[in-house]
Amino acid sequence: MPCKTVEELEVILEEAKSYTKEGKVADYIPALSKANPDNLSIAVIYPNGTCYSAGCIKEKITLQSISKVLTLALALMESGEDTVFQKVGYEPTGDPFNSIVKLEMSNPSKPLNPMINAGALAVTSMIKGSSVQERFDNILEFVKKLAGNDDISYSEEVARSEYETSHLNRALCHFMKQHGIINEDVEELLDLYTKQCAIEVNCLDLARIGIIFAMDGVEPGTNNRIMPAHVARICKTFMVTCGMYNASGEFAVRVGIPAKSGVSGGILGAVPNRFGIGISGPALDDKGNSVAGLKLLEILAKKYSLSMF
Ligand code: GLN
Repeated sequence: MPCKTVEELEVILEEAKSYTKEGKVADYIPALSKANPDNLSIAVIYPNGTCYSAGCIKEKITLQSISKVLTLALALMESGEDTVFQKVGYEPTGDPFNSIVKLEMSNPSKPLNPMINAGALAVTSMIKGSSVQERFDNILEFVKKLAGNDDISYSEEVARSEYETSHLNRALCHFMKQHGIINEDVEELLDLYTKQCAIEVNCLDLARIGIIFAMDGVEPGTNNRIMPAHVARICKTFMVTCGMYNASGEFAVRVGIPAKSGVSGGILGAVPNRFGIGISGPALDDKGNSVAGLKLLEILAKKYSLSMF
């Protein structure tokens, strides 16, 4: 069991905090460059609902790539495995999250997995609703339900900032449209995707989402089933194989838990049947993962034998 007291978690946080100096906040989405690189916070939730947290836990960050695992869950629930995996594959790429190169090399031209940008765009394209607004509301409602927090909303500023500078994602979409992976209007898809990435959470929300995946889709406390067990299992599998971008192999060795990161510095962790973890730490390493967040998880993993392997 990790951290029997808040004090214990605070000591670990202090140890990891010095690593924030080794990272840089993302600036390829201009609005993200306003984040404070010194921030670091963590929340851990147990299956019985007990929660420990440390750091500036009220600090909000946007989901960014963490949203990819949530839209994957929603698309699987709405359309089923067969439909989803007609448009996106199962395999890790070993390339950066926004790389276009393997898209041309795969045959048929479908994205290799749902955790890279191309795959996530293809998944978002499947989210149901009659307009961008309705589809976004659909995603937002699901995130609120997962986090058990009705106040969750999105940052218009971050969404607009990404939409206006999404040249790579635009290229990925046009490529996929040409090859029949997506059929909708590219600008509408980018509008929806950048809004989904701009949904704002704190580390507590992330930990609450994490515990639902950890408990195979069931919400602790209420015992409500938020997603079918097989959907949670598929998502956790992708979190292990591709959740930390092209650092997923090293992360599996060093930490060994299903996790998903985002370029805002968030990390969602789901330790099967044990706990949910949420981390916010905007200073990133060169692969786009929270540098101090990784350190925090490494310390926790060693100290409390978190690895599932
Ligand atoms: N919105 C970001 C993008 O598409 C998400 C990337 C990430 O968090 N790695 O570039």
